[in-house]
Amino acid sequence: MLGKSTVTVHADRGIHPSHAVAPPIYQTAAFSAEDAAGFAAGAVEPRGRDFYTRFGNPNHAQVAAVVAALEGTEAAMVTASGMAALTTAVLALVSAGDHVIGQRSTYGGTASVLLNLLPRLGVSTTLVDQRDPEALEKALTARTRLILLETPSNPLLHITDLRAVAEVARAHDVLTLADNTFATPLNQRPADLGVDVVWHSATKYLNGHSDVSAGVLAGPADLLNRIWDTSLLTGATLGPIDAWLLLRGIRTLPLRVPRHNANGLALAEALSRHPAVRHVHYPGLAAHPQHQLAADQMDGFGGVLGIEFADGYESADAFLGHLRHPRRSASLGGVESLAVHPASMWAGMLSAEQLTEAVPPGLVRLAAGTEDTDDLVADALAAADSVRATAS
Ligand code: PLP
Repeated sequence: MLGKSTVTVHADRGIHPSHAVAPPIYQTAAFSAEDAAGFAAGAVEPRGRDFYTRFGNPNHAQVAAVVAALEGTEAAMVTASGMAALTTAVLALVSAGDHVIGQRSTYGGTASVLLNLLPRLGVSTTLVDQRDPEALEKALTARTRLILLETPSNPLLHITDLRAVAEVARAHDVLTLADNTFATPLNQRPADLGVDVVWHSATKYLNGHSDVSAGVLAGPADLLNRIWDTSLLTGATLGPIDAWLLLRGIRTLPLRVPRHNANGLALAEALSRHPAVRHVHYPGLAAHPQHQLAADQMDGFGGVLGIEFADGYESADAFLGHLRHPRRSASLGGVESLAVHPASMWAGMLSAEQLTEAVPPGLVRLAAGTEDTDDLVADALAAADSVRATAS
């Protein structure tokens, strides 16, 4: 079997209609057909690449080939954002009257799909604590069709036992859809553990340069064909230039992820010993209650950590203000470190009550970039010192 760096560079080779070493950008909304039969065939070819860009495009197909190779799935497809991947998949896989299970700790947009969008469409939902393997099984009903998973979760870094959940779901004929954004296929391959469909905010680590909004879905061709059918109606199509940029970003994913992992771990270890910090959430810490599970199903623990300050929101905000390298921004997964106060960031998607349930008010999410480890650690410790000096 080829290594991850090799497939990341070469898995799309067969989809280069030209001999250009760097793939051309197919900046076209439509493709022409030679005859009526060719046109009719193009209109129904799932995830095709030369009919109409909303149906597919060579730049989409190249990204999909690399993502499927990395995730170890039969197929993959791209969308205009991570949320487009999620909503398209969910709309394809559930109908009014069905029941969906999700996690209590999950990205705010996913939480809002579960708490607000789906109930409005007649789909009931239950959110469970993913740290309790039995809670999920107990939430199953005769109407459950889908389980939404996210591990490590944003921003509390809770871990879901993917193998255990996939087994229970299979036994009950329920599909699983896992958000692999935080881990990336370098650190975790949910499909290998039995998950049906994997999705990403490709805006984050897959692209890695904070310059593209994109999503991907990876899984068996039959399920992706169902999702592709719905994507023709939701129409959240990734532009060819953005698909091209995404492919360029993905090429270096295997080089970037080990640095993100090293920086995340070093920051977590240093900050967890700082007196101004009440708690650091990071699954790579031996003290993390689910460290063993994380170590069993992951090859690295990622670049994101959650930091809770002893003095709540004021300290969290002061820490963000004192950081020199990480900027205050809503994203993560790029080469540059970013930090954010999740409770402020998600106020547009969740009600005040839903927010209180989802995240502690004093939590900072720090996403380590690929800068030098010593520089990031020194900066974070100096910012934590300033918090302490202000509070005392
Ligand atoms: N999943 C996770 C874990 C995220 O952090 C985000 C965005 O922050 C999303 C999904 C949504 O992705 P996008 O912003 O690309 O729509």
